[in-house]
Amino acid sequence: MNGARRLSGSKRVVVKIGSALLADDDGRLRADWLDGLAGDITRLRGDGIEMMIVSSGAIAVGRRLLGLARGPRNRALRLEESQAAAATGQVRLAHAWQEALGGYDVPVAQVLLTIEDTEDRRRHLNARNTIATLLRLGVVPVINENDTVATDEIRFGDNDRLAARVAQMMGADTCVILSDIDGLYTADPTKEAAAEHVPEVVSITSEITAMAGETAGDDGSGGMITKIEAARITMQSGCRLVIADGRDTHPLVALEDGARATWFISNAEPHTARKLWIAGTLKPEGRITIDAGAARALARGTSLLPAGVTAVEGHFERGDPVLVCDAQGRELARGLIAYDSADAERILGRQSGEIENILGYRGREEMIHRDDLVES
Ligand code: GLU
Repeated sequence: MNGARRLSGSKRVVVKIGSALLADDDGRLRADWLDGLAGDITRLRGDGIEMMIVSSGAIAVGRRLLGLARGPRNRALRLEESQAAAATGQVRLAHAWQEALGGYDVPVAQVLLTIEDTEDRRRHLNARNTIATLLRLGVVPVINENDTVATDEIRFGDNDRLAARVAQMMGADTCVILSDIDGLYTADPTKEAAAEHVPEVVSITSEITAMAGETAGDDGSGGMITKIEAARITMQSGCRLVIADGRDTHPLVALEDGARATWFISNAEPHTARKLWIAGTLKPEGRITIDAGAARALARGTSLLPAGVTAVEGHFERGDPVLVCDAQGRELARGLIAYDSADAERILGRQSGEIENILGYRGREEMIHRDDLVES
């Protein structure tokens, strides 16, 4: 695992941007700042890093457009007002990202997620495939919570947590939370002169949580506590999280140049963490039997193709966990299958090139992709 306090060496990075950085107090987008950040993102992409953005700001921008302004009339919005503001502001926000990154010839895509998209297996698989495809095609996904449909019970509520979930789902190795403070302090630095900056955290103890309660910062919805919660999520998945000062016009380059920040370092390998999840926490819904050739390929760490499958048992949906067994019924592996049981049955023993003809749609080449497969 890349434990160094540097972005270089990362392969997949999520950058979370809070509303207070993107928009001024009146909900006007800060185009210059956005342009600087777009330059940083382009530069990191040039170093071969896949970049994803989790951008807040829809509500902050939308409330101004709808005349639900802050200022002296600042007040908490009712849920339906926040949702209307989000719906209005999100268009403007996506456009601003398109303009900013478009200036560097970087294509962007808007992805709106709810908590179920990261937690429900099938939706998780869907969202992950879409974002992975965007990355493969060189697009920067600009992600936000789908505030318009997310009611209280099904909200992430804050984009710190959303960013952590996206990092986890996508197997990112670094999650950068840009804030209006350069990290965690032992006490609130605006109140206590003795407050000390914490450069690195390797484990989230009750002491760390207590410090977070003391540290002021950010744009309201999150604060330091939600950032610590986000770090807890990413660290379990082998992903580092860094809280960095985003106020600079080139915050990612500044971070790369060693700007002060708090790094939450994880010891787990991203891959291992995901595979542990597949192996340990999911109940198999079906069983796939494979031939000897496929078993040998599996042992070499390749994906499982339909051609090597001899039988399919059980009733399962696309994305469900299944057991992979040899002809003697011995369990060889577990994995998340890319087809439901009816379709898996129809393509078993066939070449991947035949899938489209048989099923009438172009599914994945693999029955179980190697990233979704873990040997028993
Ligand atoms: N999704 C909200 C928005 O775009 C922001 C949530 C947050 O600030 O964490 O306005």
